[in-house]
Amino acid sequence: MTTKQKRWQRQNLVKSMLILISVILVIFMTLVGFWIPADKTLTTQLAATETDSFRVERGVFDLRQWNPEIKPLLSMNGDWEIFTDQLLTPAELSAIQLPNEPQTIPIPAEIMPGKPLSGLDANGYATLRVRVLLPEDERIYGLKFAYFASAYRVWINGKELVSAGTPVTNPAECKPRYLPSELLFHHIDGEVEVVVQVSNFHHRRMRLRPVLLGDSQAVTRLTQRQIISESLIFGSLLVIALYYGVLYLIQRREPALLSLATAAFITAIRGGIIGERIVVRLWPQMPGELMMKLGYLPVFILLPLLVIYVRDVLDSPEMDRAARLSGWGIWGLTAFVALTPVKGYDAVFQYGQGFILLGSIYLIYVMVVYGFRKKNRGAYAMAVGSVVVLLAAASDMLREFSLWNAPELVSEGLMVFIMIQAGFLAWRFNHAFLRANTLATENAAMYEEIQQMNRDLEEKIRQRTLELTNTNRKLMLMSRTDALTGADNRRSFEEKLQKEWHRLQRENRPLALIMSDIDFFKEYNDQFGHPEGDVCLRQVAAAIGKTLRRETDVLARYGGEEFIIMLPNTDKDGACRVAEKIRKNVEALQISHPYSSIHRVITISFGVAAIIPSRKTTPEALVRRADQALYAAKQQGRNCVVLADEQNTFTLKDLQNESENNHQQDFQQDLQKDFQQDFQKGL
Ligand code: GH3
Ligand code: MG
Ligand code: MG
Repeated sequence: MTTKQKRWQRQNLVKSMLILISVILVIFMTLVGFWIPADKTLTTQLAATETDSFRVERGVFDLRQWNPEIKPLLSMNGDWEIFTDQLLTPAELSAIQLPNEPQTIPIPAEIMPGKPLSGLDANGYATLRVRVLLPEDERIYGLKFAYFASAYRVWINGKELVSAGTPVTNPAECKPRYLPSELLFHHIDGEVEVVVQVSNFHHRRMRLRPVLLGDSQAVTRLTQRQIISESLIFGSLLVIALYYGVLYLIQRREPALLSLATAAFITAIRGGIIGERIVVRLWPQMPGELMMKLGYLPVFILLPLLVIYVRDVLDSPEMDRAARLSGWGIWGLTAFVALTPVKGYDAVFQYGQGFILLGSIYLIYVMVVYGFRKKNRGAYAMAVGSVVVLLAAASDMLREFSLWNAPELVSEGLMVFIMIQAGFLAWRFNHAFLRANTLATENAAMYEEIQQMNRDLEEKIRQRTLELTNTNRKLMLMSRTDALTGADNRRSFEEKLQKEWHRLQRENRPLALIMSDIDFFKEYNDQFGHPEGDVCLRQVAAAIGKTLRRETDVLARYGGEEFIIMLPNTDKDGACRVAEKIRKNVEALQISHPYSSIHRVITISFGVAAIIPSRKTTPEALVRRADQALYAAKQQGRNCVVLADEQNTFTLKDLQNESENNHQQDFQQDLQKDFQQDFQKGL
């Protein structure tokens, strides 16, 4: 990796970290906003059970000593008056003759099935009443109901102000609505009567959560704050879900993206359904049953989803079985929640908490064993997130069992977790991108190197080929030329003869051969020595070569001092003329040969044969005829040209004038005599 890329990676890492930290800070601030409020809203809420000096006693909430400026919100905890198994309007209530000691129920309460409280069953109905004594002022007050059974209706001073669902006596007619509500009121003469009808036939438990009473502005502000912060979390989670979901669909290579997107989505949905129920506020007609299912489902499937996510991030095959089990778990639990009524899955939910605890322990174990041991960065990111989630979950669990009075935090915890994961996945993307980039650069460099090597190799091959071609050409030349004279050698001649023969056969043109032999060369050699003889051979060859005019004429050294001349497109007369010219030119060289029997210089004899090539005869036959003519020339006295005759094997062809001819004949006769004498001597 180049230093530039390293710096770029570092900068990006720093940027991602900064974004991550700021996101976490924002969430943290949002959360802290609840705990360190200027108007001590949450402190009030949290502290209500323990330290509130104001409690509802025997159905009366005496607030005459209360200063709303100091403590604007109070929980209406304490003993509310209860009329079990009766749904009464304020008018009906006032007509009833009340006993001295009213029946009461402690609020907040959670009534479990089979464990009635003040005679009220978990599935049942009742009317509750609180008489509030307020300070003498003109203040507008407010009440905030978060979760009160599954249907409730509120009257204040005989006036119906809120109806969430329809509390009824007949289970079949009961319509649950889980909507929080805020209601504002004036008081008359410092006394306010709050009457609440409740009924629950849908939920397994009847939950009567704390009711807040306070200054109207404080109630409104609390609601606004909660709606805003929940909407923020809801929106952020939806954006994360959308972003990673789309990224997964585009990429399809990082399964962790899908599990994270799903986790973000269901957490968003749950966050939107619980608390201020922003989803229900957006969609007031939403069926209560559907709302319940959507609220519960995340709690059921989040853990298996996290197991799958952790497996994908840590890439641990050891977790495959757990992941597969989780996959089935998700479908099974989804089907279970979808198909059973809330009473069913709420019962399982109780035991589910234990599973969640076990699952969380498993996840921590996995992170420590597989993640930290492998030094997987995802494990560190997850560990931080998990601590937050687990703390939030623990708080919620305490809250669920009414042991602890805090807002639901698991959504916020998950939000932090998911944000950390989002940051981690972004980092991993960046890392993968950089790696791919580096690889691509390295690849390109390697490719370039290979290309260069190829080019070098090609150049080398080209050079070698050139050298080889040159050597071959030299070899070929060497194998085709006679080293001494530079004329063609016999082999080359024979090749050329074959070629010319066929060509002229096609063209029906004549081909002539002149076979020549230096006269008395043996004597020359004997007298002057071999080196001198070689010099002479060279001179003669040069003289013959110079005489040949046509490009196609070929001179070859046929034997020791024999030269053969091929004359394509030349008839016998032309060939004889060429031979004669050569004869004269050699004579004109005036190479002294005192030991020649016929002359005082080097001379040469010729046998000429010509033919129009045909299938009837062969090139070899033509050579033989020229050779025979040469033999005849030797016979006839040398230094002459003899044309082979087609019929007779050889005939003297006289190209010279009469006198010369006679002279030659004399010579020949002498020679023949000499020969015969030599022959006889030799014998
Ligand atoms: P003739 O007129 O009948 O041809 O007589 P001649 O002496 O030339 O006869 P012959 O063909 O028998 O002699 C050939 C001689 O040519 C033999 C050898 O001494 C000489 N000779 C052959 N090849 C070479 C060669 O390469 N270099 C030299 N210096 N002499 C050669
Ligand atoms: Mg010879
Ligand atoms: Mg000779």
